[in-house]
Amino acid sequence: MLSTAANLINKLACEHNLSDAELLTLITSTEPDINNLLACKADKLRRKYYGDKVYIRGLIEFTNYCKNNCYYCGIRAGNSLAERYRLTQEEILACCAEGYRLGFRTFVLQGGEDAYYTDDKICAIVSAIRKQHPDCAITLSIGEKSSASYQAYFDAGANRYLLRHETADVEHYAKLHPDCMSLENRKRCLFDLKEIGYQVGSGFMVGSPYQTPQNLVSDLRFLQKLQPDMIGIGPYITHEHTPFKDMASGTLEQTLRLLSILRLLFPYALLPSTTALGTIHPNGRELGLQAGGNVVMPNLSPVSVRKKYELYANKICTGEEAAQCRGCLEARVKIAGYNIVTDRGDVRRTLDKSEGEKL
Ligand code: SAH
Repeated sequence: MLSTAANLINKLACEHNLSDAELLTLITSTEPDINNLLACKADKLRRKYYGDKVYIRGLIEFTNYCKNNCYYCGIRAGNSLAERYRLTQEEILACCAEGYRLGFRTFVLQGGEDAYYTDDKICAIVSAIRKQHPDCAITLSIGEKSSASYQAYFDAGANRYLLRHETADVEHYAKLHPDCMSLENRKRCLFDLKEIGYQVGSGFMVGSPYQTPQNLVSDLRFLQKLQPDMIGIGPYITHEHTPFKDMASGTLEQTLRLLSILRLLFPYALLPSTTALGTIHPNGRELGLQAGGNVVMPNLSPVSVRKKYELYANKICTGEEAAQCRGCLEARVKIAGYNIVTDRGDVRRTLDKSEGEKL
């Protein structure tokens, strides 16, 4: 006799969906070995779609100024202890050039919501990267903007946008953010981005303060509505200079469990094994790949600013040059049983007929 959880996992692996009650059971189950069983099914499915390929995205954290005050985030405006920095266009281009040399074909420009970078400045940066690296994908992750701004960045050459919804439950959203921010606007942004034609990434933190298992089910349902190309999740990690300084961090186990569930719900998705996962456990990123992840996002920011982009405590990889990070990651990915590839790593929504028949 299979246990309840094992039955649910089999059903999820076949049907790529479960009822709310079933998802809740899987998320909260304390039966032993669930994570192993989930990871096994998730890995089989990711290999069907993506083989052993792991895509790399070069992350350039170009500003830690932010006008927002998200209660969980270390670079929130209200953290007067954060040492602020901005990279110039030349510095950003230098990061891309070094990244390109190291085999990166996707650059992710991430930052706080920093009014210094007007739409004109962002467009100038994007066009300059587009001109120098026509074969690369350019991803932006700079928060909530108007549809017109998103359109302008897209026209300048941006292809992808990362904006985690953070939580799909209105009440939970209000516990994580001040009143001037709303889940409604966050969702509006995500649908605008899709409409414009971006490849979109969304996601949430696992174990964020006040999060309930039911909230996680809502997150999964929202993602099913949005159908993003990429889904980024990582454990919430407490930062001591935020209002949540006394709150517990999320766990490795729960994050791995959600990663596998996401792979089984979204066979095609690009799922990063995040730096936050590597921060809460020395082998977190390897375990994330084995649980269904197929993307890693090493840092290309200059070493001099790495520590300052401190979203959460003890962030890893803040001391090494990009080339060292690339080498280290290559070895880690290999040991985990996969291979880094140096192409753009676009999403695969469908399989060729022969691939579909293989399993
Ligand atoms: N300003 C951009 C980038 C935000 S930082 C935006 O609004 O999208 C990128 C992600 O880091 C956030 O979306 C959030 O999910 C995550 N993050 C922030 N603080 C964190 C913390 N304390 N622990 C774990 N992840 C965190």
